[in-house]
Amino acid sequence: IPQPEDRQVESVCPYCGVGCATEYTVRDNSIVLCDGRESPVNHERLCVKGRYGWDYTMHPQRLTTPLIRRDDAYPKGPLSGDVVGTSSRKRRKPGGIVDYDEVLPAFREATWEEALDLVAERLTGIRSEHGSSALAGFGSAKCSNEEAYLFQKLLRAGLGTNNVDHCTRLCHASSVAALMETIGSGAVTNVFADVANADVCLVTGSNTTANHPVAATFIKEAVRNGTKLLCVDPRGHTLTDFASHFAQIRSGSDVAFYNAVMHVLIAEGLIDEQFVAERTEGFDELKKLVLRDFAPEQASSICGIEPDELRAIARTIGQPLEDGRRPRMLVFWGMGISQHTHGTDNARCLISLCLLTGNVGKPGTGLHPLRGQNNVQGASDAGLIPMVYPDYQPVSDPEIRAKFERAWGVELDPEPGLTVVEIVKGALGKSIRGMYILGENPFLSDPNINKVRAALSSLDFLVVQDIFLAETAEFADVILPASSYFEKDGTFTNTDRRVQVGRKVLDSPGEARQDWQVICDIARRIGLPMEYASSAEVFDEFAALTGHYRGLTHENLGSTGKLWPCPDPEHEDGVQILFGDRFPTASGRGKLVPCPYLPADELPDEEYPLILNTGRVLEHWHTGSMTRRSRALDAIQPNAFVAIHPDDLTRLGIVDGTRVQVSSRRGTIELEARADRTVEIGTVFIPFHFREAAANVLTTDALDPFGKIPEFKFCAVRVEAA
Ligand code: SF4
Repeated sequence: IPQPEDRQVESVCPYCGVGCATEYTVRDNSIVLCDGRESPVNHERLCVKGRYGWDYTMHPQRLTTPLIRRDDAYPKGPLSGDVVGTSSRKRRKPGGIVDYDEVLPAFREATWEEALDLVAERLTGIRSEHGSSALAGFGSAKCSNEEAYLFQKLLRAGLGTNNVDHCTRLCHASSVAALMETIGSGAVTNVFADVANADVCLVTGSNTTANHPVAATFIKEAVRNGTKLLCVDPRGHTLTDFASHFAQIRSGSDVAFYNAVMHVLIAEGLIDEQFVAERTEGFDELKKLVLRDFAPEQASSICGIEPDELRAIARTIGQPLEDGRRPRMLVFWGMGISQHTHGTDNARCLISLCLLTGNVGKPGTGLHPLRGQNNVQGASDAGLIPMVYPDYQPVSDPEIRAKFERAWGVELDPEPGLTVVEIVKGALGKSIRGMYILGENPFLSDPNINKVRAALSSLDFLVVQDIFLAETAEFADVILPASSYFEKDGTFTNTDRRVQVGRKVLDSPGEARQDWQVICDIARRIGLPMEYASSAEVFDEFAALTGHYRGLTHENLGSTGKLWPCPDPEHEDGVQILFGDRFPTASGRGKLVPCPYLPADELPDEEYPLILNTGRVLEHWHTGSMTRRSRALDAIQPNAFVAIHPDDLTRLGIVDGTRVQVSSRRGTIELEARADRTVEIGTVFIPFHFREAAANVLTTDALDPFGKIPEFKFCAVRVEAA
């Protein structure tokens, strides 16, 4: 019930890349209500996470004071009794994930001065003894643009290494590699609401309703108004109910499927010849490959879709409409495309499909890789990537490097740094000895986490900055209590390229501090002056070093933000559609890259006969540290499960709802089996949110050679009754 003393604060949802505009009602430093605001992003809509998933910020398990590991708590290892990767039946305590009673005794409380001095001393000590390349940092796509900018500046300019990365590596690194290579920009070409202008919408490798729920409402609305929806996915989901065609392809066969579609388009004369001639290069090589190797009858044996259905889908994309126009098609994709060892090839095929059919640069067309975290676009824009400074300016380019050396007042390393999985491998091999992890939880989010456990345990020094004692913090030497999303001002860039200001809603508990201030505190102690009066001032420095953010300020972003690029600060809303006349490539043309079909890295065999696919559920977010501490969300979806087709359950003699063990070559977990007809026969699906049955015990750390993204969507497993 509203009270007269309540105050309202406008902000943005902390979860997915849709970036819904929110309004929080606050009473006595507590959030009591969240509503959607009117904005081009969400038109007042919110999903269950945005509407109810904010109470984690007030959870009693918040870290409120710096912690230092006790001398007798070495050697390091997972401290909580609810150990990942065993068949333990011990259940977590209600409302928590890590068992605080077991973990906290390994640490003692410290003052900020003592903790920060120790961090600076140990990081600079490792630098002196082993060189800058022995240090690395993981930032976070949950942090603001300002925090991401300062974090990469600290690593590059303060500690002298480009070994700085974040979870974009686990998300759309392969999509960005393909987009940069082919059209010269990693961002989306059209905003998702532009689906209203599309004749055809292709959704592939994305359970949009679960992972980008409000964006899915725009797709459903478009379908009701006449847009044809094509869904291509090995797993069924609720959006397929709206589809005119649902191609349930075999896991990992995307390249074969899309090459076959392109085969039909070329063979039947359904491509946009003028667009191909004027705006692309590489057509002859692509044509040669797809006509030779990917006739529908050939591809059908790989992807499992009947040749006639492949032809029907290609004709939906390419055949002129009744009024003679070519259909306008907007393509959305998710991690079902990107998280493969051939993820870059998958994205290259989608880009070629759009270029062949002239579906870039116009309303109702384009390429939209749906960004996962609320600021994965912005953290990447801000330079939280090992090979590029802010705005994707390569560290290896001498002129660009000189520009940043002038701005930051230090000499910079010309070598691109290591990526997430490479850093973990480096820690195992002792080439990486010290790490600063800000807001990421690689002990649950990275692939093959028994290897991650060994890597984190073997670091000489680890400082973790977080709001909870997340699983990764169990390996820390120093833990710094951070501010939650609701406790600071900062900008966040959504999947559309919309830069929005998230406003401070609450004060932080105890001694928890603003993340950007903690980064500056460490920087000053290692000899890099970082003095800013506010996060708005940090934003100004970042924006001035970029082309795309230049001219934007906290003030002129207003209450609903602006899209980048924004030609001038007075521009109403920024640019909705990119590349109307040329691509930002050397030739100005889009590149068609032929991609032969390659199988996944680890195929099923007699010992491990099933394919594991991992992902998210609607109610939870990544490693669960926020959503599993949100009462409503945890109540809806409290337990880990593996989804298995009923035919596979019968064949295995397993009863729906009973406990099973799932094993791969890397470990075993135990969880509940759920019958699910949307899962392809021969595959299983496990959400990766649950520590007590961590899916990433099972996954492989094999990487895509271009985007260096791991193959979360495919590895071989066995399922047995527990
Ligand atoms: Fe938040 Fe995404 Fe849901 Fe919007 S769709 S409320 S941004 S989780």
